[in-house]
Parts: sequence; structure tokens; C-alpha cells
Amino acid sequence: MLRQLAKSAMYRLAAWEPLFGPARRRRLGGKAVVLMYHELAEDGDDIEAWTVVKRTDFLRQMDYLRSKFDVLSLAQAIARMTQPNGPDRPVAVVTFDDGDRGNRDILLPIIEALDLPATIFVATGQVQDRTPYWFDRLVNALQVDAPVTVSLPSGSSAAYTINETRGAANWIRIQELLSSLKKLEPARREQVVDDMIKRIGPQEPRYRGIAPLSISDVRELADCPLVTIGAHSHCHNILTQIDRRAALESAVRSKELLESWTGRRVNYFAYPNGDFNDAVASAVVEAGFEAALSTVPRPWGRGEPLFALPRIGVGRYDSIDVFKLGLVGGIGQFLN
Ligand SMILES: [Zn+2]
Repeated sequence: MLRQLAKSAMYRLAAWEPLFGPARRRRLGGKAVVLMYHELAEDGDDIEAWTVVKRTDFLRQMDYLRSKFDVLSLAQAIARMTQPNGPDRPVAVVTFDDGDRGNRDILLPIIEALDLPATIFVATGQVQDRTPYWFDRLVNALQVDAPVTVSLPSGSSAAYTINETRGAANWIRIQELLSSLKKLEPARREQVVDDMIKRIGPQEPRYRGIAPLSISDVRELADCPLVTIGAHSHCHNILTQIDRRAALESAVRSKELLESWTGRRVNYFAYPNGDFNDAVASAVVEAGFEAALSTVPRPWGRGEPLFALPRIGVGRYDSIDVFKLGLVGGIGQFLN
């Protein structure tokens, strides 16, 4: 507790404008930062998930961003960052991954009210099937009050107890569980996760659950001129774990479905989990995209390759100070 307070005080000082402002300007002059979000929820929604940011926190972050950066669409940012010279004021691009329901219910009205350009990378499988991917199904099942212990199948002795604490510490446990599951082969993982959810059993949930957008929600978002719809694959498997042909098919399918749903061209791609290699990047080029985004958390400099663009993740447990420090590439970067 005391350590946490000391840490917060250190972040508060490090992000204090008279101290941080010159460092931010020095590090970000002429550069861009691309932010990665997933989902928004109302402040009172009781959910334990890094991916679900509270409405008020998001508004505060956008307020800060708009005061210090040119907040541009991804196309505008690419146009600026591929020029050899340009304004010194840094660019910010706001992106959301996966295509969850709050993107329409909470984010869209904010986009319209603030005149805020944003890109939403939709993974089409969950929209088409109206079923969340395995990671969100499991996170939904864990939204109960009682502690839950789950273990991976035989061959691994790892067991994870969730809900012993709340907040960031609890999320670290959930994330460890998700990371172990990400290493399993996709079909096997579906089975393991379904068994895990069955064992957790039906309990009174604390939260309505993370759920995908519908096709008509995607269309409604695409109809807003401030929204860019990008693709995030169809399967949402980590593309470096499947063969190149399957990765190509998944990228093409998401592009074609989104274009047929929205009547617009879909030019940008976000790698699921941020993972890519030369084979995956070349598949995304072959699928007809013009740029692709990773999750390497650092600013984007002029002239960088367009199929490995960096992106800084923002989550539920980030204070406004951690958010500010994260924009320059993380707290470590700033303190170094
Ligand atoms: Zn994703």
C-alpha cells in the first residue's frame, strides 16, 4: 500500500507539466503516437479487465491529448509522417481493437461530441458469430465475486487463483492465465477454455459482459465521417502461430467482410496481439492493405516502414499520470 502511494507520487511528479512538458516536446517533436484501446464502459460498471477503460478516464485522456497533440485520422497521420518534413507539434491517433459493443454505445457519441477522429480495427469472426473470442469469454466468466482457481490441462502444473484481490493486482493474475493459454494451439485452446468456463460454472455476474458489435453497429460506426474502420483479421488467432496461408485467408476475409458490410474500402490492419513477422507482414501486404499496426509501445518517427507501425496500449488501471508518461514510450523511457 505504502509502496503504491510512493509510486503514484513519483508518477505524479514525473508527469508534472513544468517538468514533463519540455521532455515531451523534446522526445515527441515531429513524431506521432498511436494509442490502442479496446473497450469503454460506464464508470459504475464493475468489471475486472485491462481492456475496458472507464468513460471518465477516457474523456480526461482525450482532453489532454487534444491540448498537446494534433489528433488526426490514421490516413491524415500517414500522409504527414511519410513527408520528409512537417510541423513540430506531435500527432496522436486514437485506435480501438476487436470491435466491442461499447465502441458504438459509448465511444461513438464521444467521437461525435468531441469531433474526435478514431480508427476501429474490427475482428470480423466475433461480429459474424455474435460470440466473443475465447479471451473475452473467459474474462466474462471470471467476473464473479468469489475467488476462482483454474488450472491448465495435464502436462502443466500451473494453477491460477483469480479474485483474491481486486484491481490491477487481480488483472496481473488474469493476464498470466491468458498468456499461458495464448501458447496453446488454437483448436485445443477453444476446448480448454470452454472446459474452464464450465468448471467456473454459472454464477451471478458482476458485469453484463464484453460482447461484440453487431453488423449493423459496424455499419453505423462506418457511416460516421470521423470513424475509420480497419481490419483485425477474421479469426483473431496470433498470426505468427498459424501458417502463412491461413494468416492471409484471415486477413483477406476480414477485409472483404468489412467492405461488404460498410460499403467502404478498408485500408488498414492491426495484427492480433500485435504479433507479426516477415511472413505475416507480407501476407497483409498481399491482402491489399496499405499499412499495419503492431503493439510495440513507442512513438512513430517520420519515414518508418508502414507495416510495422508502433502503438501504445492504454488500459483500465492506468492513472492519468501513467497515461501521460506512456505517450513518450513508457515510464522507463522517461526516467532513463
Ligand atoms: Zn485484438
